[in-house]
Amino acid sequence: MSLTPLQFDNAFIRDLPGDPDHGRGTRLVQGALYSRVDPSPVAAPRTIAWSREVAAALGLTEADVASPFFAHVLGGNGLLGGMQPWASNYGGHQFGAWAGQLGDGRAISLGEVLTGNGERLELQLKGAGATPYSRGADGRAVLRSSIREFLCSEAMHHLGVPTTRALSLVVTGETVERDMFYDGHPQDEPGAIVCRVAPSFIRFGHFELPASRGDIALLRQLVDFTIRRDFPELAGTDETRYGDWFSEVCASTARTVAHWMRVGFVHGVMNTDNMSILGLTIDYGPYGWIDNFDLDWTPNTTDAMRRRYRFGQQPNVAWWNLSRLAAALAPLFEDVAPLQTGLDRYAAEYALQNRHNVASKLGLAECRDDDLARMNTLQQYMQQAEVDMTLFFRALGNMDSNVPQWASLRHAFYDDAKRDAAGPDFLHWLNDYAARLREDPLTAEQRRQQMHAANPCYVLRNYLAQEAIDRATQGDYEGIHTLLDVLRRPYDEQPGHEHFAQKRPEWAKSRAGCSMLSCSS
Ligand code: AMP
Ligand code: MG
Repeated sequence: MSLTPLQFDNAFIRDLPGDPDHGRGTRLVQGALYSRVDPSPVAAPRTIAWSREVAAALGLTEADVASPFFAHVLGGNGLLGGMQPWASNYGGHQFGAWAGQLGDGRAISLGEVLTGNGERLELQLKGAGATPYSRGADGRAVLRSSIREFLCSEAMHHLGVPTTRALSLVVTGETVERDMFYDGHPQDEPGAIVCRVAPSFIRFGHFELPASRGDIALLRQLVDFTIRRDFPELAGTDETRYGDWFSEVCASTARTVAHWMRVGFVHGVMNTDNMSILGLTIDYGPYGWIDNFDLDWTPNTTDAMRRRYRFGQQPNVAWWNLSRLAAALAPLFEDVAPLQTGLDRYAAEYALQNRHNVASKLGLAECRDDDLARMNTLQQYMQQAEVDMTLFFRALGNMDSNVPQWASLRHAFYDDAKRDAAGPDFLHWLNDYAARLREDPLTAEQRRQQMHAANPCYVLRNYLAQEAIDRATQGDYEGIHTLLDVLRRPYDEQPGHEHFAQKRPEWAKSRAGCSMLSCSS
């Protein structure tokens, strides 16, 4: 076995100020962006799943990652040469309110790998034990939430959505106590650790914390570092570079949220500490996937009352989060006009991407204004009639566009009575759509291809993840492997895997983990 050819260059802790205290105890950390802390060892680490693509990106073989030696490292029981573990220090707005210092309560970065392709990929263990930012919690993660993060971050990547990745899923051989519904019924659950991978784990909250403390020197240091390391294309420019950088953050955030809306992903906890400076989807907690199209749906039980983070609200929340970032950055600007320009760019970029979504989801060469209205009407009908988002758009792409085929869409409805009641509306819409397609230059084949590349066949439906979790809890990890494999090619129909392309079964409608998720993880 090759004992890692991994080459580390830990810029974050080399170039930025750290906490002089190396202890694990909970504390407020001032004037520093991280604390050095080692993972806490676990009883019996065993790697139960890994991503071959992420392994390859790191220059590792699958055999490397699967080896007991690597389980030792990925479970937090040992370090490779060059690893210098740390937990980073950030704050955040949670559910609209400033929450002060948060920090990596249960994420420990091991190091930044420089890959053979000249990429920088940071390795971070989630659930590797307490850090100074754990605030009395245990720093651990349960198997169910680790499976959800592992599978979903890989699935998102294969869907073409910017995201952090996952190298490995390790069971710890220990249990973790969690009160899943916060109702006084704690249970021991199997513990696990995911090794997440991204070029940068810097969040909006990293900038908000020093700004909230009036530590402008530290804020400036972090901005300069971030531009230098994570936005090197901007590093050389003059005094406009802070504004250019913020504008890039706004644009990439818009693109990612537009992808979420395209595929039906609801993040569930869009707090500013869960917003990546690279616009990556980050921190998979009580996220969920849209089954029946519903702009008002939120998977997060903590958010069930106010629904701040509901599906249809995500583009607005991202804007609000960017406005928090802008406020944090304002002390670095003599004139805040460039920050306003960045926020405007968010709106413009989102509008552009939304048009892309409409055109690609409906199979049009371009999105005209009347197509925006067409999509809105369709969405209203889908919401009222309880139509499965994934099945409907996929079936629409298979339809012979000149002849509206109501029959080929019937399977996407959850409720027969609502379907029959909505039939005339849908038929009317389909006739109008057919007329619109006749004005469009794409051939039927081009249209089908375009639609199938935008409308996935397979997404990580909440109940599918739960089925894999139920099996894994019994010690059977095959469900995880099968799902990972299917989700590698989400846009290809895969014969034999029809089970994964069906609408949510009745039993899953009100089952915990399928329709509602708690933050407990
Ligand atoms: P989240 O809502 O999961 O994004 O977490 C918000 C904050 O709480 C972050 O600082 C987490 O690291 C921290 N946190 C969540 N769960 C735990 C845990 N079990 N132990 C320590 N810190 C945690
Ligand atoms: Mg978080």
